[in-house]
This record gives sequence, C-alpha cells and structure tokens, in this order.
Amino acid sequence: MPSRGRLAPTPTGLLHAGHARTFALAAERARGAGLVMRIEDLDRDRCRAEFAAAALEDLRWLGIEWTEGPDVGGPHAPYEQGRRGAWFLEVWRRLEASGAIYPSPHSRRDVELAATAPHGPAAREEPLFPPALRPASWHRASAPGRVAWRFRVPDGRVIEFTDGRLGTVCRTAGVDFGDFVVWRRDDLAAYELAVVADDHAMEIEEVVRGEDLLTSTARQILLYETLGWEPPRWFHAPLVVDAGGRRLAKRSGGVAIRELRARGVGPADVLTWSAP
Ligand code: GLU
Repeated sequence: MPSRGRLAPTPTGLLHAGHARTFALAAERARGAGLVMRIEDLDRDRCRAEFAAAALEDLRWLGIEWTEGPDVGGPHAPYEQGRRGAWFLEVWRRLEASGAIYPSPHSRRDVELAATAPHGPAAREEPLFPPALRPASWHRASAPGRVAWRFRVPDGRVIEFTDGRLGTVCRTAGVDFGDFVVWRRDDLAAYELAVVADDHAMEIEEVVRGEDLLTSTARQILLYETLGWEPPRWFHAPLVVDAGGRRLAKRSGGVAIRELRARGVGPADVLTWSAP
C-alpha cells in the first residue's frame, strides 16, 4: 500500500547515482499517496542554492515527480528547512519543557578526548558522548542561546523498530549511540530535531532513506516519544557501493547524475547503472 513520503536532499553537492536509486525507490513507494520534496539546507555554510536547483532538475530528469515542494507549493510551505527556523524553535521549546534536553558546551574535540574506545556497530559515525560530561543541573531557558543542546538518552534501553526491508532492527541507547545534539551552538536546529519536526508537520507516513541512517532512526524514535507524536513507518534502502565495496559518494568517486547525463546515459540506465 503506498504511503505519503518525502524526498529530503541536502544541497551540499550534486546528486550522484546512489542518491538516484534511493529517491526513485522513495517515489515508487509513495506513488499515488503524495510525495513531499523538502530541501534540507539548514547548514548555511555547506549548502548552496545552485545545488538545490540542480537536485530538482536532476530528479525531474530521472522521471521523479513530487506533489508538494519549493517549486510546486503546497499546504506545508516553506519546503526549505532554512526557512523553517520558527517551527524548529517551537519544537526545541517543547523538548526543553519536557526536561529531556540539556545545554552542552563541550566541543566535538572535548567529546573525542573524553570518549571511551568505540564499541558497538562499527558504522557509528561519531564517538559516544561520555555520560560524565552530562551536567548535574542547568538553568531552564526560554531560548537555546549560543550553546549546543543534547538529548539525554535512556542508557541501556533497547530501541526496537520495524523496517520495511530489514524487519526488526534494534539499537541500544548509551551503547550504539549516546546523547545527541538537537540544537547546534551556531543557533540552528540539528538534523535529528529538524527531520522529526518536519516529517511530523508534513504528515509523512513512511520515511524512505539510506541504511546509513538506521541509528538515527533509533534517536528519532526517542524524539517522537518525548514529543508525544506517532512515528512514521521506516524503510531503509541499501547503500549503493562501488566495485571495491565502498559507499558511493562524491568523495569516493561517485559519478554525478548530470555527468552521466552529459555522457549520454539515459534516466533508466542511471538507475540500473547504480544497481547492486
Ligand atoms: N537530508 C538527509 C541526507 O541527505 C536525509 C535525511 C533523511 O532522509 O532523513 O542525508
């Protein structure tokens, strides 16, 4: 049964064939139920309007059509996260009021130095935040201020969820992931907060994305729970890898969709070219 879905490109570069497959799969699973195009351009330093425009053009060229988005409008506009700061702040307020988040002045470097040797899934993107760096107490705040805020995870709790492709997936809080940033010290919502806030606001029924985000899903489930919101269903697509088994990305020589197009490769071939 199709479910209302979304495409959520981050415009930090050109889309490559790996993205093409994940987005085509998301579009296929949402067919007939509505598909939102959301530009995840929160990181002002790394995102560029040209890449957002290129992403829309490349995806259209591939034959992917969305029913709501920055270029077609819709009831949930704006569809660029860079313009949704007021909503993210509202969600920050709700989290702050729940007592689940705390201000954390520690830099990434502090965390790396204090973190114990990594254990748990090898795929973990960042060192575990050491519980010793949690504050004993903090002042209630009405605005985030110039400090990062972290979500305090329930240590030892197993977060279990059903993935549409992988079946039951488990992640343990405090083992597979630690206290995570929900608000950045440069006063922007962090990815985990923004994506939950928007998937909820945009009434997304199924989130389709790459399986590199499985641990993020566990974090996001904790946010849904704290906010009292129903989580969507989850479907994590296999990552596209190159002949050497490395994840296909720009930095590992992934080929941009428009480069393939310029070489005369057609849309259908871009999608099968990147098939495993
Ligand atoms: N914008 C994210 C990315 O490009 C995807 C986030 C998501 O699908 O939840 O990696």
